[in-house]
Order: sequence, then C-alpha cells, then structure tokens
Amino acid sequence: MILTRRALIAGSAAATGLVYAPALLGQGKPRVVVIGGGAGGATVARYLAKDAAGALDVTLVEAEPAYATCFFSNLYLGGLRDFDSLVHGYDRLAAGNVTVINDLATAVDREARRVTLAGGQVLDYDRLVLSPGIDFVEDSVPGWSLAAAETMPHAYKGGAQTELLKRMIQAMPQGGVFAMVAPPNPYRCPPAPYERVCMIAHLLNQTNPTAKIIILDPKEKFSKQALFEEGWGKYYNDMIQWINPEFGGADVAVRPDSMEVVIEGEVQKVDCCNVIPAQVAGGIAAQAGLTDETGWAPVHPDSMKSRIDGNIWILGDSSAQGDMPKSAFSANSQAKVAAMAIRGELIGSRVFPAKYSNSCWSLIAPEDGVKLGASYEPSGDRIASVDSFISDTGEDAALRKLTYEESFGWYAGITADIFG
Ligand SMILES: Cc1cc2nc3c(=O)[nH]c(=O)nc-3n(C[C@H](O)[C@H](O)[C@H](O)COP(=O)(O)OP(=O)(O)OC[C@H]3O[C@@H](n4cnc5c(N)ncnc54)[C@H](O)[C@@H]3O)c2cc1C
Repeated sequence: MILTRRALIAGSAAATGLVYAPALLGQGKPRVVVIGGGAGGATVARYLAKDAAGALDVTLVEAEPAYATCFFSNLYLGGLRDFDSLVHGYDRLAAGNVTVINDLATAVDREARRVTLAGGQVLDYDRLVLSPGIDFVEDSVPGWSLAAAETMPHAYKGGAQTELLKRMIQAMPQGGVFAMVAPPNPYRCPPAPYERVCMIAHLLNQTNPTAKIIILDPKEKFSKQALFEEGWGKYYNDMIQWINPEFGGADVAVRPDSMEVVIEGEVQKVDCCNVIPAQVAGGIAAQAGLTDETGWAPVHPDSMKSRIDGNIWILGDSSAQGDMPKSAFSANSQAKVAAMAIRGELIGSRVFPAKYSNSCWSLIAPEDGVKLGASYEPSGDRIASVDSFISDTGEDAALRKLTYEESFGWYAGITADIFG
C-alpha cells in the first residue's frame, strides 16, 4: 500500500488509508520503520517483509514518489541510456507487505521511539532503520550553495539534477569549457566523477569535439585512476585535463552568477560547471543525533546497528562502517545483514555471521567497461576488506566488452532486488 502526504492530510480515515496500516493501529506485531527508500532502505524493507512472512509490520517512509538511480546516470549523460530506464516505483514493495508512505521524515524522537513526518503523521517503532543517503556541505566549495545548484548542478542525487546537467552540457557552445569540481573523500561512489567525465567526453566527441573538460580535484589520487587515465588518452585525445592539488585543484571557488571558476585566485570563464561538494550523512541522521564529528553515523560492523542507539540501524552512504565504499551495491549488501539481525531480535529467527560484498563497474567508452570489488567481514570495530580485485590496464577489447555486459546484468539484478 502506498500512502501519499496529500492523502494523509486529506482527513477521513478511509481517505487517508490509515485504517489499512497495521503499524499505526498497534495490532501487536513488532513495528519496523525504515526512512529512505533507496538502495539500502528499500532493500531492508523488502527483505524484512518477505522473510518475516507477516510477523512484522514494516513501514517505509520515502520523500519522493519514485526513485531515480544515480547508478547508471552517467550512461544517461553519455547518451547510452534513457532517463526513464533509471526510474523505479514502489508498487511492488507495497504489494509485498510493506506500507509505503510518500512523505519526508522530519524528526526522530529516540526516547519515545517515534518518527514525525512533514505531513504531521507520527509513527511509533520498535526498531528504526535509516538509509537517507547523503547531504552536501554547502560551504565546502566557496561560492556554491544548494540554491546555486540550479546554475551549477551537483547531479549527485538522482533525478532532476541529472537531467539539468545534461541539458547544460548539450547547450555548451562549440569549443566551450566544462568544469567539474570533484569532491574530497569520503563521498558517494568513488569512481563516479571520473566515469562521468568519460561519458561527457563521449557525448562531446560527437557533438562538440573541440570542447574541453577540466576536473578540479582536491585529491592527490582517485579510484581506478590508472584505468581512467588510460581511457582518457585512448578515446578522448586532449579533451580532458585533471588538475590535482599541486596545480590548484584544492583551492577552488565558484561564481555561479557569472559562470566562472577561480583557481588559486585566477578567474576562468566556463560554459558548464558541475560542482560535487563535500558530503555528510542524510540530514535526518544528524537530526536524530546519530552522527559523530565526521558527519557520518557510526555502526557496529557485525549488524549495521547504530553505535549510538541500540534500536536503530544505519545503512548505506550515511553509515561510517570501515572499508566499504559508499555504493548501491554496498547499501544493498548491508541491508540484507541488517534485515537478518532485526528479524533475529524481533522474532527470534536465526542470525548468521555477517558477510558483505561490493563490486563497482565503470564505463570508459561504449563497450569498454572496467570494474573493482571486494568481500568484507567484521574485524574489530570496523568492516574490513578481506580480498579484492580490479581490472588491469591494457585488457583486450573482448574482455572489456564482457565487463560492460556484466554491468548491465548487475543493474537489472540489483534494481529487482531493491524494488521487487
Ligand atoms: C553518478 C553516480 C553514479 C553511481 N554509480 C554507482 C554504481 O555504478 N554502482 C553502485 O553500486 N553505486 C553507484 N552510485 C552510488 C549509489 O547511488 C549510492 O551509494 C546509493 O544510492 C546509496 O544508497 P542509500 O540507501 O544510502 O541512499 P539513496 O539510494 O540515496 O537513498 C536515500 C533515499 O532516502 C530518501 N530520504 C532521505 N531523507 C529522507 C527523509 N528525511 N525522509 C524520507 N525520505 C528520505 C531520499 O529521497 C532517497 O530516496 C553512484 C552514485 C552517483 C552519484
């Protein structure tokens, strides 16, 4: 069942659908509330409802009516995928015994074990799961703010921002300059900014071959660097320039009104600017008092349970857990461990030792895919990598094509696993 904010405000019990929400009527089943219907939250809600076979009341609170994946959004920028193919609804989750509420969670009262929604509804819980993704540190790039994202998009949360960035790239004049301000560690999907550059270069190669791309980077090195740099040389000639801290990449301000970037005090006019700011846990995690001085929410590595509140789990990008990169693959893997642990606590089902995994594919050019990945286990107070792999430079075209095809299978598989 999907409840919308409008329906909830509308008034009568029949109109609101409240009569159908067992968690709200307190029928005696343990109540699990999940905030955030993305890679982590939708997975944990689906697995809890499926594996508890009716023994739990599972409610998912998601601010957006549908979810547009960030994963594969770079392929949309490169013209290799439709936007619609990135969008997933919540109907199948709702059909699978999850009460889906389309509203924003505005407050968590940990003492009362209660979540308040923007529409005024209050949800009591026995266990709460937060998987609210990321928020941006507004002053991390001087001159940039959330309001400026309409002029200099981040395109780092799925949806309208990704479409805006694509329109801006397509509107660049011939021979124009695209600038990306890359984020500092840690951030969502470490290779994504560099895959994005490949896909934008692929698009520009066809429509605007004299354009230039500059990456202003506060980091000395980045994920899959050798693989990306090999690809930039092979496919995109001199189009892409990576400016690291030694050359001013860490001393960057932006002027959205005049479409300028300022690098070590030197002003450069650009035609399109993608600012990917520093990141922290999704705001509701901080509101609930579940984050530490780093801005992320620390968890126990054997369960993803919060280190601050024993009734709350934190999944995905918001969590501080150790070695796992912030990815949809990681969030989905963590969600299954969390679902098992929560069922164990609430209905006594068997709990197995936690094991996690992540793989991350990137597209260098059409049919030229690379990947890295690892398995993870709890080790002391953190999740630690126990083995890992990465594509080699110099691989032949047939292997790269296979890797690319594998990534398409992964996207179909994981979105089915998340949303049903
Ligand atoms: C360009 C790009 C490419 C990427 N490519 C890959 C890839 O190839 N492979 C991969 O594994 N990962 C990839 N990622 C990373 C991946 O998208 C994230 O790591 C993943 O989505 C994190 O899952 P999550 O559940 O933590 O957060 P999200 O999936 O972001 O879900 C959070 C949800 O919570 C909702 N929400 C937040 N606050 C509230 C609130 N208060 N009330 C109600 N709802 C709320 C949001 O609307 C959102 O739907 C990529 C990311 C980007 C930006």
